[in-house]
Amino acid sequence: MRGAKVSVRDLRKRYGAVKALDGVTFDVESGEYFVILGPVGSGRSTLLKCIAGLERPDSGDILFDGESVLGLPPEKRLVGYMPPGYALFPHMTVWENVAYGLWIRGYPRREVEERVEEALKLVGLLHRADSYPHQLSGGQRQRIALARALASGARVLLLDEPLTALDAVLTLEVRREVRRLAKSLGLTVIHVTHNQEEAMA
Ligand code: ADP
Ligand code: MG
Repeated sequence: MRGAKVSVRDLRKRYGAVKALDGVTFDVESGEYFVILGPVGSGRSTLLKCIAGLERPDSGDILFDGESVLGLPPEKRLVGYMPPGYALFPHMTVWENVAYGLWIRGYPRREVEERVEEALKLVGLLHRADSYPHQLSGGQRQRIALARALASGARVLLLDEPLTALDAVLTLEVRREVRRLAKSLGLTVIHVTHNQEEAMA
């Protein structure tokens, strides 16, 4: 697998009088780990949601490998968006959480099983497949969210303040893990944070 090159061109988005995005332009190369540092309210989540297809920009363009994705629904963009807190379903097991996105897209059962198993193996949590999110540590929940993105075949990983829920030791460990996996899979990563130390690391 190879991560997509992501190009953001003069992206604008308003909510009423608030300019959440005011002409944002940048390029992230295929396989690059790109960090955006900014304070709370600076439009970071809006930017990631536009890239994921969960919000529509007012103007500007978003290209993957040179092709606009604005016309594509989220499930066709091959993007894994990891929101703060990871948004795992509390009433579903680890397995079900990772499989869910594939079920709703109508993948055949056999393929769902293969993809979920492979993704859980990659993050080292296959043995916790039957656990529920509340039975896992913060670091393990992070890895489940990552497995969910990987199972869906993401070419681009969007991390929205991924480490804020973790303590300092875990933060180091999870940071290393995400980078190792992203690198070995050739994924493009866009990581936003308000934490200067995290951004520098
Ligand atoms: P960040 O993630 O950097 O904290 P956001 O992208 O969430 O920033 O928000 C940027 C600005 O847009 C903030 O002023 C926020 O209040 C506003 N905003 C974000 N989403 C909405 C929304 N759905 N409706 C109205 N205002 C919003
Ligand atoms: Mg945010």
